[in-house]
Amino acid sequence: MKRIAVLTSGGDAPGMNAAIRAVVRTGVAQGWDVYGVRLGYVGLIAGEIFPLSARDVGGIMQQAGTVLRSARAPEFKQESGRRQALDVLERTGVDALVVIGGSGTQAGAAELSRMGYPVVGVASTIDNDIYGTEMSIGVDTALNIALEAIDRLKATASALQRAFLIEVMGRDCGYLALMAALAGGAEAVVIPEFETDPEALIDDLRAAYERGKAHSIVVVAEGARFDAERLVHYFQEHRDRIGFVVRATILGHVQRGGIPTAFDRVLASRLGAGAVGELAAGRAGVMMGLTRGEITGTPLEVVAASRKTLDPRLLELAKVLAT
Ligand code: ATP
Repeated sequence: MKRIAVLTSGGDAPGMNAAIRAVVRTGVAQGWDVYGVRLGYVGLIAGEIFPLSARDVGGIMQQAGTVLRSARAPEFKQESGRRQALDVLERTGVDALVVIGGSGTQAGAAELSRMGYPVVGVASTIDNDIYGTEMSIGVDTALNIALEAIDRLKATASALQRAFLIEVMGRDCGYLALMAALAGGAEAVVIPEFETDPEALIDDLRAAYERGKAHSIVVVAEGARFDAERLVHYFQEHRDRIGFVVRATILGHVQRGGIPTAFDRVLASRLGAGAVGELAAGRAGVMMGLTRGEITGTPLEVVAASRKTLDPRLLELAKVLAT
């Protein structure tokens, strides 16, 4: 191994920069040339590859987003797009690639690996929906941002005695919403994995009011069938019968922009270093993740073919603690 490249792809996640830094510096420590690829798979296909030194990645760890920038590349889903990328890698003499990104990015990495190219993935998405890791880079920061918003809403909800919905990101995965509800002490949570009917939610909120709660906070996952917009619509439509209205706050992309927490920086550093460690050991075709406190590699084809599930006990806990 003489030359490796690193890219970030899909939705940006706080902590990606710490992972880039770790890949570059541990790669340099191996005596390799390390290259950066701009704009994920888009830049890979277009040949936007440039050398990165240890100094080039100084002062980036505390920044949100990714200095390599990111993109969605539909053309990479086609074999022809991936062939173009492989041509670029061959032309530039890059022996192996580290890809930092979410589940889609890892699916792309699995395809590249299947075509015989050495790739190592690094799990990074605020959604925490990647199989093969308990935590992905960016989840902790996004969770803390959601929590700060919940704490603030709780103060105003108590003062006004109102019910508030707060919608958090997570795509089809309810992890972020469930953890935010648990840590924020929400009265209810609506997630795609365990669908809540609006009538059941109304019953929960009424019951909370009858138990003497001054406020009600409901955390809603963006991927739930009844997301915040649909719930507000339902509450308004049945306003007279229900007897109260709800206000919704949709956090959206605000969650991606936070200064990476210590947890995300440490995780990203360990995963980035772990990816280089795999390549140094002559291995590839895996995604680095966190399993019971250890940095582990899971075959990319397993990551791509498996679905991460949510522990239903956490939902039960959130319900019990909301009483
Ligand atoms: P996040 O979920 O955090 O937004 P992600 O990595 O899952 O991140 P996607 O947009 O799903 O984001 O995927 C990023 C890119 O990975 C896509 O634009 C595409 O280039 C590539 N990709 C996704 N799925 C596949 C696939 N099945 N085969 C090849 N490439 C893929």
